[in-house]
Amino acid sequence: MLAIVNSCSLLGLKGFNVKVEVDVSGGLPGFHMVGLPDTSVRESRERVKAAIKNSGFKFPPKQITVNLAPADIRKEGSAFDLPIALGILAATEQIPLSALEGKIVVGELSLNGDVRPLNGVLAMVSATENETMEFLVPQQNSYEAALSGSNTVYGVSSLNEAAHFLTGKTEIPQTHVDISEIFSDQEARYEVDMEQIKGQESAKRALEIAAAGNHNVLMVGPPGTGKTLLAKALPSILPGLTLEETLQITKIYSISGLLPEGIPLVKKRPFRAPHHNASTASLIGGGTIPKPGEVTLATHGVLFLDELTEFDRKVLDALRQPLEDGSVTISRVNAAVTYPTNFILITAMNPCNCGFLSDPERECTCTPYAISRYLTKISGPLLDRIDLQVEVPRLKYEELHDYKKGETSAEIKKRVEAARKIQRERFKDYPGVECNSQMDGELINKFCALDKNTEEFYKQVFDSLKLSIRMHNRILKIARTIADLEGNDKISEHNLAEAVQYRDYDRLLADSQVFS
Ligand SMILES: [Zn+2]
Repeated sequence: MLAIVNSCSLLGLKGFNVKVEVDVSGGLPGFHMVGLPDTSVRESRERVKAAIKNSGFKFPPKQITVNLAPADIRKEGSAFDLPIALGILAATEQIPLSALEGKIVVGELSLNGDVRPLNGVLAMVSATENETMEFLVPQQNSYEAALSGSNTVYGVSSLNEAAHFLTGKTEIPQTHVDISEIFSDQEARYEVDMEQIKGQESAKRALEIAAAGNHNVLMVGPPGTGKTLLAKALPSILPGLTLEETLQITKIYSISGLLPEGIPLVKKRPFRAPHHNASTASLIGGGTIPKPGEVTLATHGVLFLDELTEFDRKVLDALRQPLEDGSVTISRVNAAVTYPTNFILITAMNPCNCGFLSDPERECTCTPYAISRYLTKISGPLLDRIDLQVEVPRLKYEELHDYKKGETSAEIKKRVEAARKIQRERFKDYPGVECNSQMDGELINKFCALDKNTEEFYKQVFDSLKLSIRMHNRILKIARTIADLEGNDKISEHNLAEAVQYRDYDRLLADSQVFS
Protein backbone atom coordinates (compact mmCIF):
# COMPACT_ATOMS: atom_id res chain seq x y z
CA MET A 1 0.00 0.00 0.00
CA LEU A 2 1.14 3.53 -0.72
CA ALA A 3 1.07 6.38 1.81
CA ILE A 4 1.96 9.98 1.04
CA VAL A 5 3.08 12.38 3.79
CA ASN A 6 3.62 16.08 3.17
CA SER A 7 6.85 17.45 4.53
CA CYS A 8 9.20 20.31 3.80
CA SER A 9 12.88 21.09 3.50
CA LEU A 10 15.26 23.97 2.90
CA LEU A 11 17.27 25.46 0.11
CA GLY A 12 19.24 28.31 1.59
CA LEU A 13 16.72 30.40 3.49
CA LYS A 14 13.83 29.19 1.37
CA GLY A 15 11.63 26.36 2.42
CA PHE A 16 10.06 24.08 -0.17
CA ASN A 17 7.50 21.31 0.02
CA VAL A 18 8.56 17.68 -0.14
CA LYS A 19 6.30 14.69 -0.66
CA VAL A 20 7.38 11.63 1.26
CA GLU A 21 5.97 8.60 -0.57
CA VAL A 22 6.10 5.33 1.32
CA ASP A 23 5.27 2.08 -0.45
CA VAL A 24 5.02 -1.17 1.48
CA SER A 25 4.63 -4.31 -0.60
CA GLY A 26 5.31 -8.05 -0.46
CA GLY A 27 8.63 -9.51 -1.48
CA LEU A 28 11.93 -9.75 0.30
CA PRO A 29 12.13 -7.55 3.39
CA GLY A 30 14.13 -4.40 2.71
CA PHE A 31 14.12 -0.66 3.27
CA HIS A 32 15.11 1.56 0.33
CA MET A 33 15.15 5.31 -0.11
CA VAL A 34 15.25 7.17 -3.40
CA GLY A 35 15.15 10.85 -4.34
CA LEU A 36 18.75 11.90 -3.77
CA PRO A 37 18.94 11.57 -0.04
CA ASP A 38 22.30 12.40 1.45
CA THR A 39 24.05 10.35 4.11
CA SER A 40 21.95 11.68 6.94
CA VAL A 41 18.74 10.66 5.19
CA ARG A 42 20.12 7.15 4.77
CA GLU A 43 20.96 7.07 8.45
CA SER A 44 17.39 7.93 9.19
CA ARG A 45 16.45 4.37 8.07
CA GLU A 46 17.99 2.97 11.23
CA ARG A 47 16.36 5.58 13.45
CA VAL A 48 12.93 5.10 11.88
CA LYS A 49 13.11 1.34 12.28
CA ALA A 50 14.12 1.50 15.94
CA ALA A 51 11.68 4.29 16.75
CA ILE A 52 8.72 2.37 15.29
CA LYS A 53 9.61 -0.79 17.24
CA ASN A 54 10.28 1.07 20.48
CA SER A 55 7.00 3.00 20.27
CA GLY A 56 4.98 -0.20 20.41
CA PHE A 57 4.22 -0.38 16.68
CA LYS A 58 5.17 -3.14 14.26
CA PHE A 59 7.95 -2.67 11.76
CA PRO A 60 6.72 -4.66 8.75
CA PRO A 61 8.98 -7.49 7.47
CA LYS A 62 8.24 -6.36 3.92
CA GLN A 63 9.67 -4.43 1.01
CA ILE A 64 9.59 -0.72 1.97
CA THR A 65 10.41 1.94 -0.59
CA VAL A 66 10.58 5.62 0.33
CA ASN A 67 10.72 8.32 -2.32
CA LEU A 68 11.37 11.95 -1.51
CA ALA A 69 9.96 14.19 -4.23
CA PRO A 70 11.00 16.45 -5.93
CA ALA A 71 13.93 14.16 -6.68
CA ASP A 72 16.13 16.74 -8.37
CA ILE A 73 16.68 18.98 -5.34
CA ARG A 74 19.24 17.87 -2.85
CA LYS A 75 17.66 17.33 0.53
CA GLU A 76 19.47 17.05 3.78
CA GLY A 77 18.98 16.36 7.38
CA SER A 78 16.90 14.27 9.62
CA ALA A 79 13.66 16.22 9.21
CA PHE A 80 12.09 13.34 7.28
CA ASP A 81 12.33 10.73 10.08
CA LEU A 82 8.91 11.49 11.49
CA PRO A 83 7.07 11.71 8.13
CA ILE A 84 8.71 8.46 6.97
CA ALA A 85 7.74 6.67 10.18
CA LEU A 86 4.15 7.94 9.98
CA GLY A 87 4.07 6.95 6.29
CA ILE A 88 5.10 3.39 7.20
CA LEU A 89 2.43 3.24 9.91
CA ALA A 90 -0.20 4.42 7.41
CA ALA A 91 0.95 2.12 4.61
CA THR A 92 0.68 -0.84 7.00
CA GLU A 93 -2.72 0.27 8.31
CA GLN A 94 -1.49 0.89 11.84
CA ILE A 95 -2.97 4.38 11.43
CA PRO A 96 -5.56 5.31 8.76
CA LEU A 97 -4.28 6.92 5.55
CA SER A 98 -6.82 9.70 5.97
CA ALA A 99 -5.11 10.78 9.21
CA LEU A 100 -2.26 12.24 7.17
CA GLU A 101 -4.44 14.43 4.97
CA GLY A 102 -3.95 18.15 5.39
CA LYS A 103 -0.83 17.70 7.51
CA ILE A 104 2.75 18.75 6.94
CA VAL A 105 5.19 16.85 9.13
CA VAL A 106 8.84 17.39 10.06
CA GLY A 107 10.88 15.94 12.87
CA GLU A 108 13.92 13.87 13.73
CA LEU A 109 13.42 10.67 15.69
CA SER A 110 15.61 9.21 18.36
CA LEU A 111 15.89 5.44 18.66
CA ASN A 112 13.34 5.34 21.48
CA GLY A 113 10.76 7.22 19.42
CA ASP A 114 11.19 10.72 20.87
CA VAL A 115 10.92 13.62 18.44
CA ARG A 116 14.05 15.76 18.47
CA PRO A 117 14.32 19.44 17.50
CA LEU A 118 15.63 20.54 14.11
CA ASN A 119 17.54 23.49 12.71
CA GLY A 120 15.80 25.78 10.25
CA VAL A 121 12.17 25.05 11.14
CA LEU A 122 11.00 28.65 10.78
CA ALA A 123 12.31 28.88 7.21
CA MET A 124 10.94 25.42 6.34
CA VAL A 125 7.40 26.16 7.43
CA SER A 126 7.45 29.64 5.88
CA ALA A 127 7.31 27.96 2.46
CA THR A 128 3.67 27.14 3.04
CA GLU A 129 1.16 29.83 3.82
CA ASN A 130 -1.90 27.71 3.56
CA GLU A 131 -4.65 27.92 6.09
CA THR A 132 -6.00 24.48 5.28
CA MET A 133 -2.75 22.71 6.13
CA GLU A 134 -1.59 21.99 9.67
CA PHE A 135 2.00 21.56 10.76
CA LEU A 136 3.33 18.86 13.05
CA VAL A 137 6.75 19.91 14.24
CA PRO A 138 9.04 18.92 17.12
CA GLN A 139 7.71 20.26 20.41
CA GLN A 140 10.89 22.30 20.99
CA ASN A 141 10.49 24.01 17.59
CA SER A 142 6.76 24.69 17.80
CA TYR A 143 7.08 28.24 19.12
CA GLU A 144 9.58 29.08 16.38
CA ALA A 145 7.35 27.50 13.72
CA ALA A 146 4.37 29.51 14.92
CA LEU A 147 6.31 32.72 14.21
CA SER A 148 5.68 32.03 10.52
CA GLY A 149 2.31 33.69 10.85
CA SER A 150 -0.94 32.25 9.64
CA ASN A 151 0.07 28.58 9.85
CA THR A 152 -1.55 26.21 12.33
CA VAL A 153 1.19 24.53 14.35
CA TYR A 154 1.20 21.57 16.73
CA GLY A 155 4.29 20.49 18.65
CA VAL A 156 4.80 16.76 19.16
CA SER A 157 7.30 15.13 21.47
CA SER A 158 7.19 11.49 20.34
CA LEU A 159 6.16 9.25 17.44
CA ASN A 160 3.56 7.74 19.70
CA GLU A 161 2.07 11.10 20.55
CA ALA A 162 2.06 12.12 16.87
CA ALA A 163 0.25 8.90 15.86
CA HIS A 164 -2.30 9.28 18.64
CA PHE A 165 -2.87 12.92 17.79
CA LEU A 166 -3.44 12.10 14.11
CA THR A 167 -5.96 9.41 14.98
CA GLY A 168 -7.78 11.63 17.45
CA LYS A 169 -6.81 9.57 20.50
CA THR A 170 -5.01 12.43 22.13
CA GLU A 171 -5.31 16.18 21.99
CA ILE A 172 -2.47 18.63 21.61
CA PRO A 173 -3.06 22.36 22.05
CA GLN A 174 -2.26 24.47 19.02
CA THR A 175 0.89 26.58 19.51
CA HIS A 176 -0.03 30.25 19.49
CA VAL A 177 2.38 33.12 19.25
CA ASP A 178 1.27 36.71 19.40
CA ILE A 179 4.05 38.04 17.25
CA SER A 180 3.10 41.68 17.64
CA GLU A 181 3.25 41.25 21.40
CA ILE A 182 6.70 39.67 21.61
CA PHE A 183 7.97 42.01 18.93
CA SER A 184 6.76 45.15 20.69
CA ASP A 185 8.96 44.13 23.59
CA GLN A 186 11.53 45.91 21.47
CA GLU A 187 14.20 47.56 23.54
CA ALA A 188 17.10 45.32 22.62
CA ARG A 189 19.98 45.42 25.07
CA TYR A 190 23.45 45.49 23.62
CA GLU A 191 26.71 44.50 25.20
CA VAL A 192 28.36 47.91 24.85
CA ASP A 193 26.76 51.34 25.06
CA MET A 194 28.47 54.36 23.51
CA GLU A 195 28.46 56.17 26.86
CA GLN A 196 30.89 53.56 28.21
CA ILE A 197 33.57 54.57 25.73
CA LYS A 198 35.97 57.24 26.92
CA GLY A 199 37.25 59.85 24.52
CA GLN A 200 37.58 58.76 20.88
CA GLU A 201 35.08 61.43 19.81
CA SER A 202 36.23 61.29 16.22
CA ALA A 203 35.80 57.52 15.99
CA LYS A 204 32.40 57.69 17.67
CA ARG A 205 31.31 60.36 15.23
CA ALA A 206 32.54 58.19 12.33
CA LEU A 207 30.43 55.31 13.66
CA GLU A 208 27.39 57.56 13.92
CA ILE A 209 27.83 58.51 10.27
CA ALA A 210 28.39 54.85 9.38
CA ALA A 211 25.18 53.88 11.15
CA ALA A 212 23.22 56.71 9.53
CA GLY A 213 24.28 56.03 5.94
CA ASN A 214 25.16 52.32 6.19
CA HIS A 215 28.81 53.05 5.40
CA ASN A 216 31.68 50.62 5.98
CA VAL A 217 34.52 51.74 8.23
CA LEU A 218 38.25 51.20 8.56
CA MET A 219 39.70 52.07 11.98
CA VAL A 220 43.44 52.59 12.19
CA GLY A 221 45.23 52.78 15.50
CA PRO A 222 47.76 51.21 17.86
CA PRO A 223 46.84 48.12 19.87
CA GLY A 224 44.72 48.60 22.96
CA THR A 225 42.96 51.82 22.03
CA GLY A 226 39.45 50.39 22.12
CA LYS A 227 38.81 49.59 18.45
CA THR A 228 36.98 46.39 19.37
CA LEU A 229 34.87 48.17 21.98
CA LEU A 230 33.89 50.83 19.45
CA ALA A 231 32.90 48.20 16.90
CA LYS A 232 30.85 46.36 19.53
CA ALA A 233 28.96 49.56 20.31
CA LEU A 234 27.84 50.07 16.72
CA PRO A 235 24.79 47.73 16.82
CA SER A 236 23.44 49.80 19.73
CA ILE A 237 23.14 52.94 17.60
CA LEU A 238 21.69 51.25 14.50
CA PRO A 239 17.96 51.77 13.90
CA GLY A 240 15.55 49.39 15.65
CA LEU A 241 14.89 46.23 13.67
CA THR A 242 11.72 45.83 11.64
CA LEU A 243 9.66 42.68 12.11
CA GLU A 244 10.73 41.50 8.67
CA GLU A 245 14.41 41.93 9.54
CA THR A 246 13.92 40.19 12.87
CA LEU A 247 12.33 37.20 11.17
CA GLN A 248 15.11 37.04 8.59
CA ILE A 249 17.81 37.05 11.28
CA THR A 250 15.85 34.43 13.20
CA LYS A 251 15.71 32.19 10.13
CA ILE A 252 19.45 32.51 9.58
CA TYR A 253 20.22 31.70 13.21
CA SER A 254 17.77 28.84 13.19
CA ILE A 255 19.37 27.28 10.12
CA SER A 256 22.78 27.66 11.69
CA GLY A 257 21.64 26.09 14.97
CA LEU A 258 22.44 29.32 16.81
CA LEU A 259 19.01 30.24 18.19
CA PRO A 260 19.39 30.87 21.89
CA GLU A 261 17.39 28.32 23.85
CA GLY A 262 14.02 29.56 24.98
CA ILE A 263 14.29 32.70 22.84
CA PRO A 264 13.01 31.82 19.39
CA LEU A 265 12.97 35.39 18.08
CA VAL A 266 16.31 37.18 17.68
CA LYS A 267 15.61 40.81 18.47
CA LYS A 268 19.15 42.13 18.53
CA ARG A 269 21.27 43.23 15.62
CA PRO A 270 24.04 40.67 15.19
CA PHE A 271 27.68 41.41 15.89
CA ARG A 272 30.04 38.91 14.30
CA ALA A 273 33.80 39.04 14.71
CA PRO A 274 35.50 36.14 12.92
CA HIS A 275 39.16 35.52 13.76
CA HIS A 276 41.77 36.43 11.15
CA ASN A 277 42.48 32.71 10.64
CA ALA A 278 38.95 32.29 9.28
CA SER A 279 38.66 30.29 6.06
CA THR A 280 36.77 31.49 3.01
CA ALA A 281 34.08 28.89 3.69
CA SER A 282 33.51 30.04 7.25
CA LEU A 283 33.37 33.66 6.17
CA ILE A 284 31.31 33.33 2.99
CA GLY A 285 29.45 30.09 3.68
CA GLY A 286 30.06 26.58 2.47
CA GLY A 287 29.79 22.84 2.91
CA THR A 288 28.25 20.14 0.69
CA ILE A 289 24.89 21.65 1.39
CA PRO A 290 26.01 25.24 1.90
CA LYS A 291 25.52 26.71 5.34
CA PRO A 292 25.51 30.45 6.03
CA GLY A 293 28.90 32.02 6.68
CA GLU A 294 29.82 34.98 8.87
CA VAL A 295 28.73 37.45 6.15
CA THR A 296 25.21 36.04 6.40
CA LEU A 297 25.21 35.66 10.18
CA ALA A 298 26.04 39.38 10.33
CA THR A 299 23.02 40.33 8.21
CA HIS A 300 21.23 43.45 9.55
CA GLY A 301 24.13 43.89 11.94
CA VAL A 302 27.87 44.31 12.03
CA LEU A 303 30.72 42.24 10.64
CA PHE A 304 33.92 43.17 12.46
CA LEU A 305 37.28 42.18 11.04
CA ASP A 306 39.98 43.03 13.53
CA GLU A 307 43.65 42.88 12.47
CA LEU A 308 42.57 43.21 8.88
CA THR A 309 46.10 42.82 7.51
CA GLU A 310 46.36 39.37 9.11
CA PHE A 311 43.50 37.96 7.05
CA ASP A 312 44.37 35.86 4.04
CA ARG A 313 44.18 38.00 0.91
CA LYS A 314 41.99 35.38 -0.80
CA VAL A 315 39.55 35.43 2.09
CA LEU A 316 39.26 39.21 1.89
CA ASP A 317 38.82 39.11 -1.88
CA ALA A 318 35.88 36.77 -1.36
CA LEU A 319 34.14 39.59 0.51
CA ARG A 320 33.68 41.55 -2.68
CA GLN A 321 30.52 39.88 -3.92
CA PRO A 322 28.74 40.00 -0.55
CA LEU A 323 29.69 43.66 -0.13
CA GLU A 324 28.72 44.56 -3.68
CA ASP A 325 25.47 42.63 -4.00
CA GLY A 326 24.14 42.32 -0.45
CA SER A 327 23.92 38.59 -1.08
CA VAL A 328 26.15 35.64 -1.74
CA THR A 329 25.51 32.67 -4.00
CA ILE A 330 27.22 29.39 -3.28
CA SER A 331 27.03 26.85 -6.08
CA ARG A 332 27.13 23.12 -5.57
CA VAL A 333 26.46 20.18 -7.89
CA ASN A 334 22.83 19.86 -6.91
CA ALA A 335 21.95 23.32 -5.86
CA ALA A 336 22.91 26.95 -5.85
CA VAL A 337 22.05 28.62 -2.60
CA THR A 338 21.74 32.37 -2.10
CA TYR A 339 22.00 33.96 1.32
CA PRO A 340 21.55 37.64 2.28
CA THR A 341 24.66 39.56 3.36
CA ASN A 342 23.42 43.02 4.37
CA PHE A 343 25.82 44.10 7.06
CA ILE A 344 27.99 47.06 7.94
CA LEU A 345 31.64 46.11 7.67
CA ILE A 346 33.89 47.46 10.39
CA THR A 347 37.55 46.73 9.94
CA ALA A 348 40.47 47.57 12.17
CA MET A 349 44.20 47.53 11.78
CA ASN A 350 47.39 48.80 13.34
CA PRO A 351 49.02 51.68 11.49
CA CYS A 352 52.20 49.62 10.90
CA ASN A 353 53.83 46.30 11.81
CA CYS A 354 54.97 47.35 15.28
CA GLY A 355 51.73 49.23 15.82
CA PHE A 356 53.15 52.51 17.11
CA LEU A 357 53.35 54.74 14.07
CA SER A 358 51.75 58.06 15.04
CA ASP A 359 51.80 57.09 18.72
CA PRO A 360 53.09 60.06 20.75
CA GLU A 361 54.41 57.87 23.55
CA ARG A 362 56.18 54.99 21.87
CA GLU A 363 58.45 55.10 18.93
CA CYS A 364 57.67 53.20 15.75
CA THR A 365 60.50 50.88 14.77
CA CYS A 366 59.35 50.25 11.21
CA THR A 367 61.12 51.51 8.09
CA PRO A 368 59.06 53.62 5.68
CA TYR A 369 59.31 50.82 3.14
CA ALA A 370 57.95 48.30 5.67
CA ILE A 371 55.11 50.67 6.54
CA SER A 372 54.19 51.12 2.91
CA ARG A 373 54.26 47.35 2.37
CA TYR A 374 52.19 46.78 5.46
CA LEU A 375 49.54 49.30 4.45
CA THR A 376 49.23 47.99 0.90
CA LYS A 377 48.35 44.52 2.18
CA ILE A 378 44.75 45.74 1.98
CA SER A 379 43.53 45.35 -1.57
CA GLY A 380 42.18 48.29 -3.52
CA PRO A 381 38.83 46.66 -4.34
CA LEU A 382 38.13 46.12 -0.64
CA LEU A 383 39.15 49.69 0.22
CA ASP A 384 36.79 50.91 -2.47
CA ARG A 385 33.90 49.50 -0.46
CA ILE A 386 34.96 51.30 2.71
CA ASP A 387 33.72 54.89 2.84
CA LEU A 388 35.08 55.99 6.21
CA GLN A 389 38.66 55.73 7.44
CA VAL A 390 39.23 56.93 10.96
CA GLU A 391 42.15 57.05 13.33
CA VAL A 392 41.71 55.61 16.81
CA PRO A 393 44.66 57.08 18.69
CA ARG A 394 45.98 56.30 22.13
CA LEU A 395 44.05 58.32 24.69
CA LYS A 396 45.78 61.20 26.38
CA TYR A 397 46.12 61.13 30.16
CA GLU A 398 43.34 63.67 30.69
CA GLU A 399 40.94 61.72 28.50
CA LEU A 400 41.58 58.48 30.39
CA HIS A 401 40.91 60.15 33.70
CA ASP A 402 37.86 62.06 32.58
CA TYR A 403 34.91 60.51 34.39
CA LYS A 404 32.33 62.52 32.52
CA LYS A 405 30.03 60.13 30.69
CA GLY A 406 29.50 60.56 26.99
CA GLU A 407 26.28 60.52 25.02
CA THR A 408 24.22 57.36 25.34
CA SER A 409 23.59 55.05 22.41
CA ALA A 410 19.88 55.81 22.66
CA GLU A 411 20.50 59.53 22.03
CA ILE A 412 22.73 58.86 19.02
CA LYS A 413 20.31 56.28 17.68
CA LYS A 414 17.57 58.93 17.48
CA ARG A 415 19.66 61.00 15.07
CA VAL A 416 20.55 57.90 13.10
CA GLU A 417 16.91 56.91 12.72
CA ALA A 418 15.95 60.41 11.59
CA ALA A 419 18.70 60.35 8.94
CA ARG A 420 17.58 56.92 7.74
CA LYS A 421 14.04 58.18 7.38
CA ILE A 422 15.24 60.97 5.08
CA GLN A 423 17.08 58.39 2.98
CA ARG A 424 14.10 56.04 2.70
CA GLU A 425 12.07 58.95 1.40
CA ARG A 426 14.88 60.01 -0.98
CA PHE A 427 15.27 56.57 -2.53
CA LYS A 428 11.64 55.47 -2.53
CA ASP A 429 11.58 55.33 -6.32
CA TYR A 430 14.84 53.38 -6.51
CA PRO A 431 14.23 49.76 -5.64
CA GLY A 432 17.18 48.10 -3.94
CA VAL A 433 18.62 51.42 -2.74
CA GLU A 434 17.91 52.33 0.86
CA CYS A 435 20.96 54.18 2.07
CA ASN A 436 23.46 56.75 0.89
CA SER A 437 26.24 54.17 0.78
CA GLN A 438 24.43 52.40 -2.04
CA MET A 439 24.36 55.39 -4.40
CA ASP A 440 26.05 54.84 -7.75
CA GLY A 441 27.52 57.62 -9.89
CA GLU A 442 24.17 58.59 -11.30
CA LEU A 443 22.46 58.87 -7.91
CA ILE A 444 25.42 60.80 -6.53
CA ASN A 445 25.02 63.34 -9.33
CA LYS A 446 21.36 63.60 -8.57
CA PHE A 447 21.36 63.73 -4.78
CA CYS A 448 24.77 65.20 -3.92
CA ALA A 449 24.62 68.22 -6.17
CA LEU A 450 26.55 71.15 -4.69
CA ASP A 451 25.68 74.81 -5.07
CA LYS A 452 28.20 77.07 -6.75
CA ASN A 453 30.08 78.20 -3.63
CA THR A 454 30.25 74.74 -2.10
CA GLU A 455 31.39 73.33 -5.42
CA GLU A 456 34.18 75.90 -5.56
CA PHE A 457 35.15 75.03 -1.97
CA TYR A 458 35.25 71.31 -2.80
CA LYS A 459 37.40 71.99 -5.84
CA GLN A 460 39.95 73.85 -3.73
CA VAL A 461 40.03 71.18 -1.03
CA PHE A 462 40.25 68.49 -3.64
CA ASP A 463 43.25 70.05 -5.34
CA SER A 464 45.08 71.10 -2.21
CA LEU A 465 44.74 67.67 -0.59
CA LYS A 466 45.54 65.97 -3.92
CA LEU A 467 42.52 63.71 -3.56
CA SER A 468 42.01 60.91 -6.05
CA ILE A 469 38.97 60.47 -8.27
CA ARG A 470 38.23 57.31 -6.29
CA MET A 471 37.78 59.46 -3.21
CA HIS A 472 35.66 62.08 -4.93
CA ASN A 473 32.42 60.09 -4.81
CA ARG A 474 33.19 58.55 -1.46
CA ILE A 475 33.49 61.97 0.14
CA LEU A 476 30.26 63.16 -1.47
CA LYS A 477 28.39 60.15 -0.10
CA ILE A 478 29.68 60.76 3.42
CA ALA A 479 28.90 64.47 3.13
CA ARG A 480 25.34 63.52 2.08
CA THR A 481 24.96 61.41 5.22
CA ILE A 482 26.40 64.13 7.45
CA ALA A 483 23.93 66.60 5.94
CA ASP A 484 21.11 64.10 6.57
CA LEU A 485 22.15 63.80 10.22
CA GLU A 486 21.69 67.55 10.44
CA GLY A 487 18.47 67.44 8.50
CA ASN A 488 19.98 69.59 5.74
CA ASP A 489 18.56 69.29 2.30
CA LYS A 490 21.73 70.70 0.74
CA ILE A 491 25.28 69.59 1.44
CA SER A 492 27.05 72.52 3.05
CA GLU A 493 30.72 73.50 3.14
CA HIS A 494 31.13 72.30 6.67
CA ASN A 495 29.51 68.97 5.82
CA LEU A 496 32.11 68.53 3.10
CA ALA A 497 34.90 69.75 5.33
CA GLU A 498 34.01 67.07 7.85
CA ALA A 499 33.67 64.38 5.19
CA VAL A 500 37.20 64.90 3.85
CA GLN A 501 38.55 64.14 7.35
CA TYR A 502 37.70 60.46 7.17
CA ARG A 503 40.65 59.29 5.12
CA ASP A 504 43.25 58.49 7.74
CA TYR A 505 44.41 55.33 6.02
CA ASP A 506 44.97 57.16 2.73
CA ARG A 507 46.94 59.80 4.61
CA LEU A 508 49.22 57.23 6.25
CA LEU A 509 49.72 55.50 2.93
CA ALA A 510 50.55 58.74 1.14
CA ASP A 511 53.06 59.68 3.86
CA SER A 512 54.76 56.30 3.77
CA GLN A 513 55.11 56.51 0.01
CA VAL A 514 56.61 59.97 0.12
CA PHE A 515 59.38 58.76 2.39
CA SER A 516 60.07 55.34 0.95
ZN1 LIG B 1 55.82 50.71 13.36
